[in-house]
Amino acid sequence: MHGICGNYFFDPDTRAEVMMNDPKYLRAGTILAAFADAGAKVTVITAKDKLRALLGHRLKGVCFSSERADQVTLADNGIADVLSLAGMPLPSVYSAALSEFVFAAGCALLERDRPDIMYLSTTDYVQHKHAPGTPAANAFTGLLDRYLARLDAAGATVVFTADHGMNAKTDAFGRPNIVFLQDVLDAAYGEAATRVILPITDPYVVHHGALGSFATVYVEGRVPISEVEARIAALPGVELVLPRAAACARFELPENRVGDLVVVSERLTVIGSRKSRHDLSGLDAPLRSHGGTSEQRVPLIANRPAPDLPVRRWRNFDAFDLGLNHLA
Ligand SMILES: [Zn+2]
Repeated sequence: MHGICGNYFFDPDTRAEVMMNDPKYLRAGTILAAFADAGAKVTVITAKDKLRALLGHRLKGVCFSSERADQVTLADNGIADVLSLAGMPLPSVYSAALSEFVFAAGCALLERDRPDIMYLSTTDYVQHKHAPGTPAANAFTGLLDRYLARLDAAGATVVFTADHGMNAKTDAFGRPNIVFLQDVLDAAYGEAATRVILPITDPYVVHHGALGSFATVYVEGRVPISEVEARIAALPGVELVLPRAAACARFELPENRVGDLVVVSERLTVIGSRKSRHDLSGLDAPLRSHGGTSEQRVPLIANRPAPDLPVRRWRNFDAFDLGLNHLA
């Protein structure tokens, strides 16, 4: 419905591969802006700045990212001097502190200004690098837990969720399992015949090398789509290949932002484009990533009981419904 189906896509109008972080790609208003228009005091804090532009679109309220916390102004962000507010220096974009800053500023804002609605969004940098149960993962979970306790103590109704899960994408030796799909298709059909798009692609790739378990393929040459589909489906590590219409129905995607085929890899495997296009030099830990059906299940946690919770498939974007309509 909102049209944002990845970090990155192939824009059929301009025939260019572009980031999807410009509000011009939004096809719906945001819940947050609607609340602000109805008179609610709304605060949005994101870790990465790319999300701020989308979540803050037409929002009359406080909106900033910890990535650019040093450039926040009253005119642009509805608030000034968030470094003092958070009591932290500007964090690095590759750090646990980038997410911690979101919570430190959010807690301080809640205690000081009492907004009606706050949306706090972290990054998955730590989860990409550190498996559950390792010291760095435990430290990060403990940090989140302490900030959630602080929000709870300040009287907030808290709903806590994730946009995806995370799995190791490695073999028994810790080496990444990668299907370089564009190389496979180029070898079969030539270089201009297909275009592999990896929606996980973004400017911040050090921790995952732009490798995830989801890809979409445009078939541009005179090859039958069904033949490409069968060839991809036969590759080891591939879980699912669906034509556009079936994939968009199943995964609720906008058809004109998805290729002729959608490819999902198995739990331990990621999909790459051409081997030469991925810089894996920044991967200093065994690859962990997401994007597949194996990473669909996420927690949805609240700090109040829900005595009359309707029986249905609750999903992460139901966080507002849950928090506003179903908690005691
Ligand atoms: Zn990620």
